[in-house]
Amino acid sequence: MINIGIFSLSSCSGCLIEFLNLEETILDLLGFLDIKEAQILKTGTFDGVFDMVFIEGSPTNEHEVEKLRELRERSKMLVALGTCACYGGVQTMVGDVGVESAAKTQYGSVIPLKTIVPEGLGTYVDVDHMLYGCPFERSELLELVKSVIMKMDYRDREHSVCTECILRENRCLLDKGKPCMGPVTRGGCDARCPENWMYCTGCRGEYSDMNVESHRKKLREMGYSHEDILGMYNKYYRRLERE
Ligand code: SF4
Ligand code: SF4
Repeated sequence: MINIGIFSLSSCSGCLIEFLNLEETILDLLGFLDIKEAQILKTGTFDGVFDMVFIEGSPTNEHEVEKLRELRERSKMLVALGTCACYGGVQTMVGDVGVESAAKTQYGSVIPLKTIVPEGLGTYVDVDHMLYGCPFERSELLELVKSVIMKMDYRDREHSVCTECILRENRCLLDKGKPCMGPVTRGGCDARCPENWMYCTGCRGEYSDMNVESHRKKLREMGYSHEDILGMYNKYYRRLERE
């Protein structure tokens, strides 16, 4: 049996919900997995060593950084679950207004904990695997767990969302004037958004062979301003610095 733990840092909890959405599939996996700790499943706490921990969300205060470091020490494999854990997530936009100003807006004069700019788990600890997306892809989670059970390698997708979109024979939304991020975004989602006439917003982050300059040039030709493009690229984490 593989001991696992499922934990959450600052997030919307969407990735935990997605875990529960595995429904019948997770019942099959439970023959191989022993869920030692998962608040969402109301398990008790576990003090031993985990074979795998899945962590959703990103640390937004020192307490969460400590919790993350402690989980790293107690786990043989640490998996970043979803874009917040991989890169920081949408909450990284707080960096644009400043954490103090944002905390004051949210909490008024009573700020409970020292807030830090959210970043991916890899800023603080070694991460063994990243499951990209907002939320992550269930198929990739199952692939990863199966690879661990069968002691096989798990490989990240290294192609763009466009590759999958073209295979689905979709009409390109860039040609319709929509600011699709598919050319600079890691595939693995089966181009779900463009398939449903929603342009890709880049939640799965970058991949090794993307051409940012060409994509930015195309967006500029379409009439998007430098500020617009910064907003598109920096929605889930800081991909482009202000020049
Ligand atoms: S990656 Fe998206 S769905 Fe998952 S916790 Fe973060 S905001 Fe929520
Ligand atoms: S719609 Fe988006 S993801 Fe699909 S081919 Fe065009 S740019 Fe790529």
